[in-house]
Amino acid sequence: MTVPKRPCLDCGTLTTNRSRCDTHQAAWQARQNQRRGSATQRGYGSQWARTASQAVQDHRAEYGDWCPGWGVLPHHATDLTGDHIVAKANGGSDNPDNVAVLCRACNSRKHAQP
Ligand SMILES: [Zn+2]
Ligand SMILES: [Zn+2]
Repeated sequence: MTVPKRPCLDCGTLTTNRSRCDTHQAAWQARQNQRRGSATQRGYGSQWARTASQAVQDHRAEYGDWCPGWGVLPHHATDLTGDHIVAKANGGSDNPDNVAVLCRACNSRKHAQP
């Protein structure tokens, strides 16, 4: 059984590989891996999600299901979320010291403020 040969997309050498000769196949694979790696490292959003959920965990460990309140008195709440104290749009960072833990209702009240 013979395998049809195709020209390598990078150098034109006939190869039995799907799209590239052995040399360029390896180089192409390395580029793909690199691209995937940097996309994961860039994962800006997921980094913040981790920071925020860590802040909620810490808050729960210390205060329990308790919302510090935003425009209202502190109150019991089980739907706590982490949010930026200074919004990203206003130059706020994704650092743990820029996380406010509030319940969802307080969070949306905070966002509703001018
Ligand atoms: Zn090649
Ligand atoms: Zn609240």
